[in-house]
Amino acid sequence: MDKAFLSDRLPYQNHKLTQAEVLEAFATDAKQIIPALISELTNHRKMLVTRIGDAVTLINAESEDEAFRYYWTLWLALNEGEELRALEAKLARHRRMLSVIAGKPTPTGRLTDGAIEAARDYPIQDLLDVTFRRSGNRLVGLCPFHAEKSPSFYVFLNQNKAHCFGCQKSVDSISAYMELNGCDFKAAVLALAGGVV
Ligand SMILES: [Zn+2]
Repeated sequence: MDKAFLSDRLPYQNHKLTQAEVLEAFATDAKQIIPALISELTNHRKMLVTRIGDAVTLINAESEDEAFRYYWTLWLALNEGEELRALEAKLARHRRMLSVIAGKPTPTGRLTDGAIEAARDYPIQDLLDVTFRRSGNRLVGLCPFHAEKSPSFYVFLNQNKAHCFGCQKSVDSISAYMELNGCDFKAAVLALAGGVV
């Protein structure tokens, strides 16, 4: 079939809409809907975290047996943990969409060593929605990457890095930003480095 014939009838066939274009078309609706979805997802996440915490307490109260505790904690991680990860990915996606419709420019430009350094220096604790308690050169709080009831998430202020002794996750400011906003290394550096680029 003649290509011109097709393109007359399917004017958009070669034009893949970007996320920004789609959102622009629905900007007014999206500006109302997305924050509502985010708060709904945040509530759902809170409930799930509470449920997991309660279940862990219950497992520990039920038996002193390490194998019993291990088995049921693993079962929890596989089931509820999966739901939690899916929820967090969804939340990150919605936050990203919101920043697109808020007109925040998609970061562009080349990465320089200076930008990467500046991004790594961005105080990691300011990126995390965690209430910390200070203990010497460290901050201690509840891990933002897994559900827990007693704090095992540490920020090492001298290194500007964080590690969770519960889930063994280690992040610096760039990887924390990537994880929380669902973006890649470059976008994280450009966002964190601000004017340094
Ligand atoms: Zn953790």
